[in-house]
Amino acid sequence: MGRTLLYEGKAKQIFETDEAGVLLHRYKDEATAFNARKRGSWAGKGRANAAISAAIFAYLERRGIPTHFIEQVDEVTLKTRRLQMLPVEVVVRNVAAGSLSRLLGYEEGRPLRAPIVELCYKNDALGDPMLNWYHFRELGLTDEELGFCEGLGLRVNAALRPFFGERGLELVDFKIEVGRDAEGRMMLADEISPDTCRLWDKKTGERLDKDRFRRDLGGVEEAYEEVLRRVTGGEDS
Ligand code: 5GP
Repeated sequence: MGRTLLYEGKAKQIFETDEAGVLLHRYKDEATAFNARKRGSWAGKGRANAAISAAIFAYLERRGIPTHFIEQVDEVTLKTRRLQMLPVEVVVRNVAAGSLSRLLGYEEGRPLRAPIVELCYKNDALGDPMLNWYHFRELGLTDEELGFCEGLGLRVNAALRPFFGERGLELVDFKIEVGRDAEGRMMLADEISPDTCRLWDKKTGERLDKDRFRRDLGGVEEAYEEVLRRVTGGEDS
């Protein structure tokens, strides 16, 4: 099958194939943080993230949440539906951490009264700022799109919090992206992995996600392997 590189991101390459409307997402071992000011890589990252994302997308599909995922084709590659992406990063939070702790002056680990949804403008040059609906309308997004993004974020959270909970992991927060297929249907896109979620061990509080890389905590490779083991080795609920 011929592959043409369409786009190379920080952690993934996206290829076009001869199959119309279908893309290949190849997960890389590279990691970046702080808008690519910090860079690194470790063996097995792409394999872990591809398998974790595939398992989570398949789970969400079974729960009736539309995603771009079609199938996993090799250790590091997922076949996906080709989408027109919305320039939005949807962040959902259950526990204060990261930028929310800075925003509200909350210590990390403080539980939130209810999940918080934030919509950020996907724009590296601007540092992915959090915007409100008025700003997004100015950028050309519709209320239908914004409502879908918020609703999807909450639905994914409602499905994944217990999914991770049963595997001994607290879903502290995560980021998802949304796109439209050729028929105009909006769905979940991009990836769901320890690169895009904060996952804390429920017993020890240990961070099993990209914060180990961002904050130089060590053991990042082992943390991703542990999430992979819990996500793919557990009960298939
Ligand atoms: P924060 O806003 O606290 O930095 O991030 C909140 C959550 O969204 C974290 O789980 C973080 O991993 C995820 N997130 C937000 N923006 C990005 C991004 O640009 N790239 C990735 N990989 N994750 C992000």
